[in-house]
Amino acid sequence: MIIESNKVVTVHYTLNEGTAEGQLVESTQGGAPLAFIYGIGMMIPAFEANLAGLSTGDTFAFGIPAAEAYGVYDEAALVEVPKQIFEHEGKIPDGLLEIGNVLPLQDQEGNRLQGMVAWVGLETVKLDFNHPMAGVDLFFTGHVDSVRDAEPEELAHGHVHGPGGHHH
Ligand SMILES: [Zn+2]
Repeated sequence: MIIESNKVVTVHYTLNEGTAEGQLVESTQGGAPLAFIYGIGMMIPAFEANLAGLSTGDTFAFGIPAAEAYGVYDEAALVEVPKQIFEHEGKIPDGLLEIGNVLPLQDQEGNRLQGMVAWVGLETVKLDFNHPMAGVDLFFTGHVDSVRDAEPEELAHGHVHGPGGHHH
């Protein structure tokens, strides 16, 4: 059975930055494989395109440029704001504004977003609203663990049931 739309696919993969020898981002090796329904928009389209037609046991190695993954880095998404807005009862909670902290925020429309503290000044901080993987070219290596037909219920729910998926 080959990988195509509406198949439940499990893969073991290792994700590195840029090339197979780049900085390790994550890996399923030694753990459970990644399980997803192919062709319903769960995964990055370029990731799925590179797996099309493979079957169980096949290996893969491919790169995805940042623009087709989590996007290019957007300078405009680095925003300087007054520290004051983080005051709680007149004071900024200890340890809140430290570089690398991810703060849950809301915009004027009430949308929830996450900003990472990128720079801390005397009166202001810079928050980075880029995806943590923005600007990073991805490189995947791995193999196909299994391919099967998705159950009608899985397609209705939009997720995998059983091993590697939802249990409910
Ligand atoms: Zn379900």
